[in-house]
Amino acid sequence: MTRISVGSEDRVFVLTGAGISAESGLPTFRASDGLWEGHRIEDVCTPEAWQRNPALVWEFYSARRAAGAAAQPNPAHIGLATLESRLGDRFFLCTQNVDDLHERAGSVRLVHMHGELAKARCSWECGKAPVEDCKVYTSLDEVSRCSCGGRLRPHIVFFGEIPLEMGRIKKEIRNATLMVVVGTSGSVYPAANFVHWAREGGARTVYVGPEPPLNASAFTHVVEGKAGEVLPGLFVV
Ligand code: NAD
Repeated sequence: MTRISVGSEDRVFVLTGAGISAESGLPTFRASDGLWEGHRIEDVCTPEAWQRNPALVWEFYSARRAAGAAAQPNPAHIGLATLESRLGDRFFLCTQNVDDLHERAGSVRLVHMHGELAKARCSWECGKAPVEDCKVYTSLDEVSRCSCGGRLRPHIVFFGEIPLEMGRIKKEIRNATLMVVVGTSGSVYPAANFVHWAREGGARTVYVGPEPPLNASAFTHVVEGKAGEVLPGLFVV
């Protein structure tokens, strides 16, 4: 069994993708021929989809909210929260996931670079901060409007939009001596480039998942296995 040592000088940057939530019962989309829960990404997760059919986009994300609320963190989420509790501010977690399973497992120092299911924001981009919103809508009429008049949209980074918190993420990658990437296919950018940025800074880079990702050759270690089985025993601190 592979073990990764984490020394007292190490700073750990973790990137997670849909695969870490698979064992909690939330499907990934590469696993099902590029469909996400039976939908083409272009129909539910792009700015054009929102312009064309906001009711379908809200229907899709309402179903993701319901599924996310019913799911529980698995041993992989808990293993990362445990590592954070040992390392404190030498640990940073960046997730591509929009579910909140990391928070519910106890992670604190984390960013959601692709947004969060349980928030909404103004679709007119008026500048107001996202609001907490975990309602499961059954019709577009139920969706509130911002005080400026714009309809609220899911606080999700649609494909083609710029990910959130990139300044903080780049700073944390520059400072990292160990990058651990879990359950992401290596096909969504810029996240697929993080391993290259970490390598440029001299960090060790580890991938955990049942199959090598598309960018596998950039990692110093690839540990093949399910995140929930590998992560809890992976680190020696
Ligand atoms: P992806 O669907 O492209 O790839 C999933 C990866 O997870 C695959 O490489 C697969 O081998 C791996 N995997 C499957 N089971 C695993 C397990 N038990 N342990 C570890 N790895 C496992 O996912 P992506 O690269 O994260 O890109 C998908 C995009 O879709 C992201 O931007 C994300 O926001 C979104 N998404 C989010 C969720 C969620 O929030 N739970 C779910 C589906 C998709």
